[in-house]
Amino acid sequence: QSYHEVLNENRKLFNELQDLKGNIRVYCRVRPFRSYENQKQTILESIGEHGEMTVTNPTKPNDSQKSFRFNKVYGPMSTQAEVFSDTQPLIRTILDGYNVCIFAYGQTGSGKTYTMSGPDNAAKEDWGVNYRALDDLFQISEDRRSFFSYEIGVQMIEIYNEQIRDLLSSDGSQKKLGILATPQAHGLAVPDASMHPVRSTEDVIELMDIGLSNRSVSSTAMNERSSRSHSVVTIHVQGKDLKSGATSHGSLHLVDLAGSERVDRSEATGDRLKEAQHINKSLSALGDVIFSLSQKNPHVPYRNSKLTQVLQASLGGRAKTLMFVQVNPDVSSYSESLSTLKFAERVSGVELGAARSSK
Ligand code: ADP
Repeated sequence: QSYHEVLNENRKLFNELQDLKGNIRVYCRVRPFRSYENQKQTILESIGEHGEMTVTNPTKPNDSQKSFRFNKVYGPMSTQAEVFSDTQPLIRTILDGYNVCIFAYGQTGSGKTYTMSGPDNAAKEDWGVNYRALDDLFQISEDRRSFFSYEIGVQMIEIYNEQIRDLLSSDGSQKKLGILATPQAHGLAVPDASMHPVRSTEDVIELMDIGLSNRSVSSTAMNERSSRSHSVVTIHVQGKDLKSGATSHGSLHLVDLAGSERVDRSEATGDRLKEAQHINKSLSALGDVIFSLSQKNPHVPYRNSKLTQVLQASLGGRAKTLMFVQVNPDVSSYSESLSTLKFAERVSGVELGAARSSK
């Protein structure tokens, strides 16, 4: 590739992105049945060509169907490659100095980790969005090597009960981190989170593994813990145009949110109740922020949770936000799935009626 080809490609990508309209995208993915589920009773009635979907409760045939509309809907047969192909244009802009935030939202077991990372020890074709995005970043930076130099660094933090911890601190101390009152132009608003330079996807995977194991140190049951906390992996990309000397700074936040399932208040007590309250509070604060952004409200309520404060600089402005909304197809999760879909509908700022009338 020549220098001009690279610049032309950048311009083309930029125009494509303008075409994607708006900075907030909501993609819904319904995972396939697991072997232990009642495979006959799916709640998914139909998926339309333009992001429409209809769900129903097969055990209550008299209940009406519910319809939703998102930027994309992926059914149970969708592949990891297919899902990533719609994410790829966003990833490329990071090298040109944009901030991108990708979230996975849904109840525990709905496929958040599968979409973001893939199954455990996944072969490359099963890789989720995270690893595919990293591979792309490194590949493009390599292709542009003669004209641009890129430095890439990684941070990883956890937010648990409204406390922030560094998952990659060198002494493994997991010290609590404070938040900057005024966010920087990019990245996380936690100045003390350690930054680790990386040169390949493998380097990042290694760091993410370390981060995940640190996440479990203070917990006896890692799965329990990881579904009750938010983890944020941040990839910083510092670019320099070798010809003009111009620099850019882009970032990618990969956010695995705590499970969104409602905890029965009458059953939860003590630590569980406290956790549940923190999770509910932060997920609804996130919903409020994304909703305000999608409505272009002048006031965006970032300050209502640590999650939104930490990501403030990367939500809004020129930043691009993508939320994967994960749905379990099984009828036993119908009410949980419905509340996930309603959350997503509100966040996307597009209600089906409104979307129809604007055609
Ligand atoms: P979560 O992170 O929301 O708790 P997981 O990603 O762990 O959920 O998914 C629960 C189970 O379902 C895992 O065993 C996962 O491998 C499987 N799974 C989720 N989504 C898919 C998919 N699209 N295709 C195949 N298996 C999936």
